Amino acid sequence: MPFEIVTVPCLSDNYAFILHETGSGLTAVIDAPDAAPIIAELGLRDWVLDEIWLTHHHDDHIQGVDDLKAAYPNATITGGAADAHRLPALDRAVDDGDAFDFAGSEVTVMDVSGHTVGHIAFYVADARGAFTGDSLMAMGCGRVFEGTFPQMWDSLSKLAALPPNTIICSGHEYTSANARFAQTIEPENSDLISRIRVIDTARAIGEPTVPSRLSDELATNPFLRASEPSVKSALNMENASDSEVFGEIRRRKDAF
Ligand code: ZN
Ligand code: FE
Repeated sequence: MPFEIVTVPCLSDNYAFILHETGSGLTAVIDAPDAAPIIAELGLRDWVLDEIWLTHHHDDHIQGVDDLKAAYPNATITGGAADAHRLPALDRAVDDGDAFDFAGSEVTVMDVSGHTVGHIAFYVADARGAFTGDSLMAMGCGRVFEGTFPQMWDSLSKLAALPPNTIICSGHEYTSANARFAQTIEPENSDLISRIRVIDTARAIGEPTVPSRLSDELATNPFLRASEPSVKSALNMENASDSEVFGEIRRRKDAF
């Protein structure tokens, strides 16, 4: 089961991901911000779209679904059961902990509510990939619109527990701004300093910084580091709970 993951820039700063299994030829797209670039990418490779997986209900993740269905009428749509009322019509509605088969490999559904309630992530161990939408992002996380800070902390903690070599395929190119903010929390973090150099180089030549590796997120993403004693003490929150520290970091980012 050899997998390829293709990053597809869409709209101004969104990403969709194409997951392709070379043995079976099966192809899925995760999120559909805009059909045209996805169809172009599929055409380039002679791949036919079999499945569309949706992380959450926001327009910038689902508005390309109708045009994708027009181009690939047999493509099935998978999304969260809890969000079925505000997603395109689902062929498969999934809940936290569900698993389904894709090309002989298991796809695990994780509830990662916080940005929205009902937001899900798809984890494909055989592809070493987690499709996280607007939950865990490169050096950041989605703004907490519908859920609570403890809920988002819980969601990020679940993703943080995946194997460290997991490739985090997240929904937006927000990494430069996230990096500037991360520096305000941990100015002395040497992993962060060196990662920022890599990010700046990539952005200077217009290269995506997404996907990223979970091990790099664990070392540099302030939202995953709320439980670190050094982060707690930098915020004068030594005695606060991890989720309270996460909440403080999220509040600061919202005002950054
Ligand atoms: Zn969103
Ligand atoms: Fe989004």
